[in-house]
Amino acid sequence: MEILDALRAITGPAHVLTGADCGPWAQDWTGNYKGAPLAVVRPANTDEVSRIMALAHDTGTPVVPVSGNTGLAGGAHAPGQLVLSIDRLRKIREIRPAARTAIVEAGVILSAVHGAVAEHGLVFPVTFGARGSALIGGVLATNAGGSNVLRFGNTREQVLGIEVVLPTGEILNLMSELRKDNSGFDLRDLFIGAEGTLGIITAAVLKLQPMPAAYATAMVALSSLGDALTLLNRLQAATGGAVEAFEYMPASYIDRHLILRPEARAPFDERYDVNVMIEVGATAARDAIPGEDGAIPIVTLLEQTLGDMIEDGAVLDAVVARTEAQRAEIWARREDAGAMSVMHLPTVITDVALPLDRVETFLTRAHAAFHAIDPNGDQVVVAHLGDGNVHLTLWPSPAAANQTDQIIERIEDVVADLGGSFSAEHGIGLSKRNTMARRKDPVALDVMQRIKAALDPAGIMNPGKVLP
Ligand SMILES: Cc1cc2nc3c(=O)[nH]c(=O)nc-3n(C[C@H](O)[C@H](O)[C@H](O)COP(=O)(O)OP(=O)(O)OC[C@H]3O[C@@H](n4cnc5c(N)ncnc54)[C@H](O)[C@@H]3O)c2cc1C
Repeated sequence: MEILDALRAITGPAHVLTGADCGPWAQDWTGNYKGAPLAVVRPANTDEVSRIMALAHDTGTPVVPVSGNTGLAGGAHAPGQLVLSIDRLRKIREIRPAARTAIVEAGVILSAVHGAVAEHGLVFPVTFGARGSALIGGVLATNAGGSNVLRFGNTREQVLGIEVVLPTGEILNLMSELRKDNSGFDLRDLFIGAEGTLGIITAAVLKLQPMPAAYATAMVALSSLGDALTLLNRLQAATGGAVEAFEYMPASYIDRHLILRPEARAPFDERYDVNVMIEVGATAARDAIPGEDGAIPIVTLLEQTLGDMIEDGAVLDAVVARTEAQRAEIWARREDAGAMSVMHLPTVITDVALPLDRVETFLTRAHAAFHAIDPNGDQVVVAHLGDGNVHLTLWPSPAAANQTDQIIERIEDVVADLGGSFSAEHGIGLSKRNTMARRKDPVALDVMQRIKAALDPAGIMNPGKVLP
């Protein structure tokens, strides 16, 4: 308990929580990981984070950094441990529209960044369903993906600089605002995606993009996933690579969505096996400003491409959003994927990446592998099809409750066979640690262990996560 007094001396007593006050940190978003922390400390700035880590280092106290606690891999699970919540570091320090950068603290909510940069006609193009709760620190620590990766890449590609407090308490200032900075090892990208195992991200320089002046958004029903890829490639060619979202929802996803949200509507009168949500963003005036007939050129282009493919028989049906409300309805269906994945518990949320032209084969083989072990198990699929990232959520039947690891291993086999990765965007945390041991190249694992030992010799930084 001496450590708690020492923490109170750093942050003030109001910012060291214990007992029932730790409730919000006692369970992860999926409900798969439960256990109250010893205490939660909420520093106000980088200096306090540094003093807390120096104290933890001197006393050998394990520390689990937590941001919005929306992670899906159990990375912020801290039973009986000290949670360091970054949520009070919430200043947007500077937005520099001409340089297309924003300098923010790690505790800023992702959607608050979106709102602040929108005032300058800019976007920070990392977006996903949990944007109202996830904080920049967590987004960087997980190298989050989301629905715009197809056009802009994942979080790592949207960051110029970071500030990190090391497990010793030292402050590593990598707050570069430069697009080119070839000065030695790439330390920034080592900490992005490290899930809090190497240090605590306290601030970042974010890269911004111009906000599209118009969007063309549609739900499209197709004959097959192969036809969906043809559509994607034609749209990319027609728009100069402006497709921002290309999201696959099979019929079973649409069915479940109507159970989850009885007030929602199905996208089409008919039930189709292959449904894709598309969004194209237009920044150039020639694509975005309505013509004399009132038509928005980028929307017309999308309609023409769809029309051609309807004639080919590849596109079966399409609904193009005419209003912002219709666009929001299309997005809401996709963004309910998270809520859908926890409709039943326990849930196994897989997060695999595949070459785009092997997604269909993966789904067929993964379903077969699952049902071979658990014929009564249930599942739902949603995919960022444009970047090959599939979320196959499994709900094993009670009879197969002890076979979850076996099911996961068989699905890993399929992924490996098709040249995929077992981890696309959610991170490893606790949930994929066994998979890391089984599937990651042993030399790569050894290098990671050596880096971890060099930066965190006492092993106090989010111990037990990521590395087997
Ligand atoms: C409905 C829903 C939809 C989602 N959709 C997507 C999606 O499309 N794409 C996607 O990639 N993810 C998605 N996620 C997962 C999750 O939102 C992301 O992983 C997000 O980046 C986590 O941010 P967070 O602030 O909640 O982090 P937390 O959950 O608090 O932490 C995540 C990890 O980062 C570490 N960490 C937290 N803060 C710091 C810090 N300051 N320094 C160092 N380490 C830190 C933690 O220890 C933990 O290991 C979704 C989650 C939900 C609930």
